[in-house]
Amino acid sequence: MSLRLARVTALSSLPGLVHGFGQRAGPGQQTREETLEAVRAAVAENGRLLLLRQVHGTAVAQAPWEETPEADAALATDPGFLVGIATADCLPVFLVDPRRRAVAAVHAGWRGTAGRIVTRAVEALVAGGSRPADLVAALGPGIGACCYEVGDELRAAFGPEADAFFRPGPGGRPHLDVRAANARQLEEVGVRPERTHDVEHCTSCRADLYYSYRRDGPATGRMISFVGFGG
Ligand SMILES: [Zn+2]
Repeated sequence: MSLRLARVTALSSLPGLVHGFGQRAGPGQQTREETLEAVRAAVAENGRLLLLRQVHGTAVAQAPWEETPEADAALATDPGFLVGIATADCLPVFLVDPRRRAVAAVHAGWRGTAGRIVTRAVEALVAGGSRPADLVAALGPGIGACCYEVGDELRAAFGPEADAFFRPGPGGRPHLDVRAANARQLEEVGVRPERTHDVEHCTSCRADLYYSYRRDGPATGRMISFVGFGG
């Protein structure tokens, strides 16, 4: 089974850090089990991969765990544990503290983004001793504002800042820029903008590289993205 990944140079250059944003294996579709097995096998020499039961909420779980928690962000502060996020349009976000060798993986769809899940994850790292200015962030592949047409009712969930993240679409309905909203939240919580990196791929535009829930429907595959310090 093949595994294709997008990587961010700023994270690849951190000693001991293992990371990758999942891509589809090729023209066909792997089952979700096949994808997960391919990722587990690829990272096995670096550590154990832990995934969440993602529910589009704002809970942050601390790895390792015995029972898979319902959460949409995971912290790993011990070497040898990699935390993973499954997506097919939602934005995977990684936060890395090279000083403490701590990481967070975040699942940011529109609900999580409106609930400031990435802010919650930074706060959880800070509670453990991280400084926001030390963090390196990476926004992975997700559906772009080019393709993410939404209903007007979503504006309310984003409050007074909504105008910055919604733009009028060609069909008259607004398009949401999840990437910009998360970048803004990271900056507001003290992550330096020059330390926030971006894969900048739209999962819906790039059918050659990604599964997309919007494009392909709910039965489509899932990409697994992972981050952690090897043990
Ligand atoms: Zn697009």
